[in-house]
Amino acid sequence: MIPGLNNAEFARYGVMHRNTYINSPKLLDETYNLKRNHNIYFAGQITGVEGYVESISSGMVAAINAIRKYKGQEKKLFPKETVIGALADYISMPKEHFSPMNANFGILPELPEKIRDKQEKYSKMAKRSMEMIREKLL
Ligand SMILES: Cc1cc2nc3c(=O)[nH]c(=O)nc-3n(C[C@H](O)[C@H](O)[C@H](O)COP(=O)(O)OP(=O)(O)OC[C@H]3O[C@@H](n4cnc5c(N)ncnc54)[C@H](O)[C@@H]3O)c2cc1C
Repeated sequence: MIPGLNNAEFARYGVMHRNTYINSPKLLDETYNLKRNHNIYFAGQITGVEGYVESISSGMVAAINAIRKYKGQEKKLFPKETVIGALADYISMPKEHFSPMNANFGILPELPEKIRDKQEKYSKMAKRSMEMIREKLL
């Protein structure tokens, strides 16, 4: 049925990967806490993060904040310049089309200067991220 593929041979069929997730921008805050019931936290792929490390990061943010809430402490937010913070921001900010997100440089805020070389740009973003962690979290 696809033009140009009429003689194609299929060595192996692919696998459809279904992803079930809630409408986090409406339901969760940036600590993965349910807005309507602050005793409930979500973590993992169900929140709209996608992948192993992403799911772990959401669980870590949720767990740190659940403990802090239990102790009567303020929320602990990872800066948006870190991928962990950017993912938490992505799942909790209102948006028209919400779909699962991997860890990637595209979700980080732009650097103040324009850098064409990708390796240099990403290296600066990573450095900025570490500096923000040292400054805001340690
Ligand atoms: C085919 C495939 C390939 C993938 N490849 C990669 C990859 O290469 N790299 C990568 O980073 N990510 C990959 N992923 C995505 C990755 O697997 C998920 O993002 C990650 O495992 C999500 O972790 P999680 O803990 O949120 O959910 P899950 O790992 O799905 O864990 C949820 C758990 O909850 C249990 N559960 C469900 N309902 C109930 C219930 N009612 N009561 C009790 N327990 C329940 C389930 O049995 C399951 O053990 C892949 C996914 C698929 C499907």
